[in-house]
Amino acid sequence: MSTRILLVEDEEPVRTMTAFALEKAGFTVEQAETVKQAERYLQDGLPDLLLIDWMLPDVSGIEFARRLSREETTREIPLIMLTARGEESDKLHGFEAGFDDYITKPFSPRELVARIKAVLRRSSAQTAEGVLQAEELVLDPTSHRLTANGEALEVGPTEYRLLHFFMSHPERVYSRSQLLDRVWGSNVYIEERTVDVHIRRLRKALSEQGFDRFIQTVRGAGYRFSTKA
Ligand code: CA
Repeated sequence: MSTRILLVEDEEPVRTMTAFALEKAGFTVEQAETVKQAERYLQDGLPDLLLIDWMLPDVSGIEFARRLSREETTREIPLIMLTARGEESDKLHGFEAGFDDYITKPFSPRELVARIKAVLRRSSAQTAEGVLQAEELVLDPTSHRLTANGEALEVGPTEYRLLHFFMSHPERVYSRSQLLDRVWGSNVYIEERTVDVHIRRLRKALSEQGFDRFIQTVRGAGYRFSTKA
């Protein structure tokens, strides 16, 4: 089955050219001119990726991205923003609205396809439903089960998501704001100390079997999941 892309772009020539290039590269493309139209498409089925123009006539691309990353059903869909040169580039660098990459117009079809493939690769690595294991700590996303030394561990939904993220991204340090972006999906309404609260709960649950040592504080930087001391 080919990868489905929803392209939200109000400029007809850009939209047509982009859709043509993507279809030529083997993608299935749905086209929308406005966020309203795009939202109608989303009700009929979710695409594998969204390409969203920054400047749209009804709702801005950035606001649309925020909405998508707030919703449980759409938060995992990778988003790439299309921008005009020089447009709000500083804000874009923050990636705070939840998009995964952006590309500046005019872009070459080849560059766009390469970016899309890179984003899809990253996202499928993140959402892989394989069993995650670190020593005798095992998280099974299919059954939503967490076991340590063969014993079932109970954790809250946020602690579960946090641990899932950590176990699929081991040996890397994440700041509190990065964790908010990646685990909560948006850092607009949540304070950074919320992360500490959930880290504490997660450690407490893991400490039953002595695996709290995997959740490591990196002074001045954030947190890391590691099986090394
Ligand atoms: Ca536009």
